[in-house]
Formats: sequence, structure tokens, C-alpha cells
Amino acid sequence: MARTLIVIFLTLTTLVACLWQGNRLAVETSERELALRAETWARMWTRHVTSDTNLVEILLQGQGITPEQWERISREMHDDNVFRFKLFDTRGRLIYDSLDGVNVNSDAVNSYSDATPSPGLMQALRTLKPVTTLFTGTSPDRPENYAETYLPLMDGTEKLAVFEVYLDVTMAAREIRPLFENLVLAVGLLMVSGMLVPLGFLGILWLKLEGSNKRLEASRQRAQDAERTKAEFLANMSHEIRTPMNGVIAMSELLEQSELNDEQRSLTRTITQSSAALLSIINDILDFSKVEAGKMQVHEEPMDLLAVVQDAVALFSPTAEAKSLEIVVENTIPPPCFVIADPARLRQCLLNVVGNAVKFTLRGHVHIWIGQTDRGEISIKVTDTGVGIPEDMLDHIFEEFSQIEDGRTRQFEGTGLGLAITLRLTRLMGGTLTARSRKGVGSVFEFRFPLLAAEAPEKARVFWNTAADRLDSRRIMVVETHDINRRALRTMLDFLRAKPVFARDAEGALRLMQALTRQNTPPDVCVIDGTLDNGLHQVLRQEIERVSASKDMPYVLMVNASQDLSSDRLKDLGYTALLRKPLETVGLASVLCSALGVPIDQALPGAAAKSNPDTNLLSGKTILVAEDNATNRLVLKKLLASTGVTLEMARNGQEALDLYKDLRPDLMLMDVSMPIMNGYDATRHIREFEQQETLPRCPIVALTANAMTEHEVACRDAGMSDFLTKPVRRAELLDTLDGWLRPEDKALAG
Ligand code: ADP
Repeated sequence: MARTLIVIFLTLTTLVACLWQGNRLAVETSERELALRAETWARMWTRHVTSDTNLVEILLQGQGITPEQWERISREMHDDNVFRFKLFDTRGRLIYDSLDGVNVNSDAVNSYSDATPSPGLMQALRTLKPVTTLFTGTSPDRPENYAETYLPLMDGTEKLAVFEVYLDVTMAAREIRPLFENLVLAVGLLMVSGMLVPLGFLGILWLKLEGSNKRLEASRQRAQDAERTKAEFLANMSHEIRTPMNGVIAMSELLEQSELNDEQRSLTRTITQSSAALLSIINDILDFSKVEAGKMQVHEEPMDLLAVVQDAVALFSPTAEAKSLEIVVENTIPPPCFVIADPARLRQCLLNVVGNAVKFTLRGHVHIWIGQTDRGEISIKVTDTGVGIPEDMLDHIFEEFSQIEDGRTRQFEGTGLGLAITLRLTRLMGGTLTARSRKGVGSVFEFRFPLLAAEAPEKARVFWNTAADRLDSRRIMVVETHDINRRALRTMLDFLRAKPVFARDAEGALRLMQALTRQNTPPDVCVIDGTLDNGLHQVLRQEIERVSASKDMPYVLMVNASQDLSSDRLKDLGYTALLRKPLETVGLASVLCSALGVPIDQALPGAAAKSNPDTNLLSGKTILVAEDNATNRLVLKKLLASTGVTLEMARNGQEALDLYKDLRPDLMLMDVSMPIMNGYDATRHIREFEQQETLPRCPIVALTANAMTEHEVACRDAGMSDFLTKPVRRAELLDTLDGWLRPEDKALAG
């Protein structure tokens, strides 16, 4: 509306300005035309009266005009609308005025002569050109419109005198002025109509645009409403499914740990795996709807890039191992590499893409490369030697629920949502995700993030400096079959300033050892790939020892993540230390330093430092559980059965509040949706009570099937200290309880 008014106002202003300007132009032009006519008439009259009389000479000499001459002059004056004239000499002095009929000798003329000459007269004398001024008659003896023209009289190039001719231009003015006024009117009308047509056109367009805007706004609103309804539906559905699944997952986990025969164990494992798969589908759908509804938030913080990637990759090592796949992280950024990013979201993206790489690769390897692009972006490339993706399908794999229909869908499980979520999350973090692939050869998925570098914590810097100092110039011999593993190891050891030498098989290793011994440059430590076929590593170790001059060189064995080897057995085999694949740089540095007898005392930095839940800490503690669902109460009892905690149960918020006042538990697990009083209100009342009684804050951990971010925000707003979602895994629950019940953390509750 305001914009419409502004447009109308501007149009009217332009119109008025145009008309005003047009009018001014018309008046000026008509005046000029009138002045021109007056000038012409004045010239004609002067020519008439001077053609056959020597009037000027007579007057200049101060002689009188004869009556015959005057009669002729009067006639000419009358014919040419001249009603008065004056004659001035070249110095601007008045010689004759026809009104008085007096000449230079009269008193009247003398008084004139003393007066200052008028500007028109001066201009005519200076320029020798006629000067005309128009007047409107104000007295009865003057015409309605008249002109005064100063006309210089010349004799060749010599000026003789100046005539001032008074001309009646009333008739001419009446003729010319309306002409121009009509012209202005016509032009004005033309302009108005000329503007009205496009204005009308614009107006119609405007109205149409407004209409379509309104329609668009309405449909956007409808779409938003539908989106909200969808998101709410998904959140509710997920809540409803999560609650019973809490029971299924927890019970099957517990069942698996009980005494079962082989068949029962296998059946139970199937239940656990199926429920875990179902939960991941629900999580995918929920995540997707969150991203779509714009509710997924990015929480950026300084994080250890290498640790986040290696942790995510480590999760797939059992699967990769089961399929005999090598899974390797190769980092080309000097550690410690801390960046500002959202570790949880980055991890989620990596889990999807690395998970796919492992899933769709039957033999070969999965290689995760971390580096920097020329433009300073962080690049994470996940390369596999898997089934590949047909070229025409590459763009479609990022669409929701898209899976390649070539028979593989039955072979590989999935929802077709993983990449759609990953792409959206990557974009949310300001990054890009691209894919290249060749069917039957493999695929490369590349993330690029414009991540800001963050300063590494003191602890991490000290660790890396110490490790690099201790391994500086140490010769490290590595026997490793896989090219990519050797490459990744070389970069890691280069960062640690060590001097690595590589052998790709047993024969090469022996040759290398002999050569090093001959050159008198024996290795300081020897790392042997324990995955070499049939325990070959053991024979190899002994052979290396045989050809080596040094008998006390430490040997380090590299094994797969799941390979069990007690430290006694390791020693028996002649090894000093053990490294687990996929190799982590922190682990490698620590193990090598220990093997060389210069261990780094400091705790490992970043994600590598993980606490082990200490169930002993929970013993003797009282936990009050507010939970309306009987199965879930039972689940919690079972999950915490062996921990020695005392569990007290409340079936709604009111009961929880009353029991809290009586029992004053060490911690509370609070469901949110409960009859009589919900978890939010119960928490608020408890926090009020604590304030009134000046009691320390009891840790209240939300345990809810509502998994959306806003639910967590609401729980924290109500005063809860932590947030767990159902179905809860035992390890996660113990980890959280352990965190809150540690003596040093308790004081910080909330
Ligand atoms: P899904 O849950 O089915 O894995 P995604 O969205 O993660 O869903 O992937 C979509 C489809 O893209 C997969 O079903 C698969 O056909 C194809 N795809 C994804 N990653 C790879 C890969 N590394 N190798 C081969 N195909 C892949």
C-alpha cells in the first residue's frame, strides 16, 4: 500500500513539474515573439519617417518640426501603432520627445537629459542592436500592452542617434498569447495522456503482481503449515516408536548377555541387530525432517579434526575387517589440526559416507584422505574400490529415498536417505559434497569445508612437540603389505620427524634389514604387519632378528581392531608393543615412544582421551526414576542391576516431586511425557524447592523419546542438567551417570 502511494505521489509530482515548466516555456516564447514583432514594427516605422525627411538631422540640430512634417509623422505613427517616440543623441541625452512635442531647448527635455540614461538605452548604445521591453499599461493613457524599443540609427558604421519607439502591441498580444497557451494545454494534455497510458499499464501490472504475490504468500504459508504438520507428525511418530523400542533394544541386549545356547544367542543377536537397524531408519527420517524443516542447528566449536575423523572411521573397522577390507586414514595436515566446526554433524556426515564406502565395497580398501585445497578449504576424500555408481545415477544418489535399482538394493540394506541428509548437513556447515565413480571400479566422495583454523590446546601442542622431539631422526622400519597403509604411515612418521624405511613383504624386509646392517644404519624400531598370512609375521620377526646386528631392537606388531592378544602372549612372541588398525596418529606416536623406552607420560589429547565408565562409582548411590511406562522402568532396573545403585521409582511428576523431597536422591532420571505432572513441571518445582531450602542442585537427566533439538532446549530451560534419548544404550547411560556422579562434577550440576 505504501509503495502504491509513493508511486502515485511521484507520478503526480512529475506531472505538475512538467506542466509548470511547459507553462513557463510558453510564456517566455510568446513574450519573445511579441518583442520580435515590436522590434520589426519599430524598424519599419523608423524607416518610414526617415525615408523622405531629414527628421533626425533636424532634431539633432535642435530645429523645430514643421506642422506639415508633424502631420505626416503623426499619420505614420497612427498607421504603425506607434503612440510616442523619443530621440537620444549618441551620449544618451534626450533630444526629442513626441509626447511633449518639445525639442532639446525646452526645459522639459533638459530635465530629462540630466537624468541617468535607462539600462535599455545604454545597452542599445553599447551593442548597437535594438532592445525591446514589454509593458502592461496601468494608466488610461497607455495601451493595454505596449513595447518600448530602443533602435540605434546608423550612418554606415557611425552611430547617429537612438530612437525610442513606443508601440501598441495589444492586438498582437491578444493574438499570440492564447496561441501559446493553447499550445501548452495541448502539449500538457498530450503528456498527461502519454503518461496515463503507460501508468495505466503499469497499474494493471502492479495489481496483477500484487494478486500473484498474495497467492504466492498464501501458498507459502500453506506449505509451511504442511511442513510443520509433517515435522510434528514425524516427531510424534518417532516418539511413539522409540518408547517401545527402548524396551526391545535394552531387553535384547540384556538377553544376549545372559546364559544362552548357540541358537538362542543367534536369535537374540538378530533381534538386537534388527532393532538397531529400525532405530537407525527412524533416526534418518527424523534427521531428514529436521533438516527439511530448518530445525537442524550447527553448533560450532574448536575441535580436533583428525581425532573426529579417526574416531568415526574406527567404528567401521570391525565391519571392514569382517569383509577383509583395509580401511585407512591418511592425514596430510600437520597435527595438531584444530578447526572451528560442529563435531557431531561432521561425524554424522562421515559416518554416512564412510559407512556407504564400507557397505558397497566387497574387496580392496576404503581410504580416507584429509588435506587442504589450494583455496584453503579442508578436504576429506573417501575413496573405495567398491561396486561403483553408474554415471547417469551420480546426481540422483543425493536425492531423498534414492537407491540404485540394479539388484543391489536387495543385496545392501539402506533407506536411501543417508546421502540426502549428508548433503544437506554439509551445506548447512557451508561445505560441498561431490561424488565421482566408475561402475565396477569404485567411488570417491569428497567433502570440502571452509573451516577456520583454531588454536590447539596447550596439552595437544605439548604432546606433539614431545612426540616429534623423541622420534626425531629415529629410523623406523615398517613391514606393511598395503600401499595405502604405507603411504599413510609415511606421512604420519614424517610429521613426527622420524626416518621411516619400508618393506612391502617378508623378502623385501629381510633384504632391507641386511642392507641396513651392512650400512651400519640399523633401525631403532621395527613395525611388522600382524595381518600377514598365517602368522608369517612371527617367522619374519625371527628372521629379521637373525640378520640384524642389534639383538635388543624393539618390535611392534600391527593387528586388526578385533584381534585379541594378551600382553603376556605379545611378549612371548617377542614384541614390545601392539598397534591397532586403523592406525591413529596419536596412538602411533605413543606406542613408538614407549617401544623406544621414552614414553610420553601425558594423557592423550582430543577425542583419544576417553573415560571408561566406572561402575564402582555408582555403587551406593540413589537414583530416582520418574517414568510412567512400566516396561521402561523395568528396562532401567535391568540396565543398572549390576551397578549397585539403589533405584527408586516414581510413575509421574507429582510422585517424583514428593519422593525427591523425602529421599533427596543423588541423581534423577526424568521422563518428560507423564500423566498428572509432566517432567518439565516436576523439574521446575524441584528447582524452586532447592532454592527455598538452599539445597545443592540435584543432577536431573532427561530420559525421553522426544529426540528433537527443541525438546532438549525445553528440558534444559526447565532446569534439567542433561539430556538422553530413548532407546538408551547401557554404555551411554552409564557414561552419563558416571559423568554426573563423579565427586568433582556433582557440584556443577545444571
Ligand atoms: P542408503 O541408505 O541406501 O545407503 P544413501 O543415500 O546413503 O542411502 O545412498 C544412496 C544410494 O547411493 C545407495 O543406495 C547406493 O546405491 C549409492 N551409493 C552411495 N554410496 C555409494 C558407494 N560408496 N558405492 C556405491 N554406491 C553408493
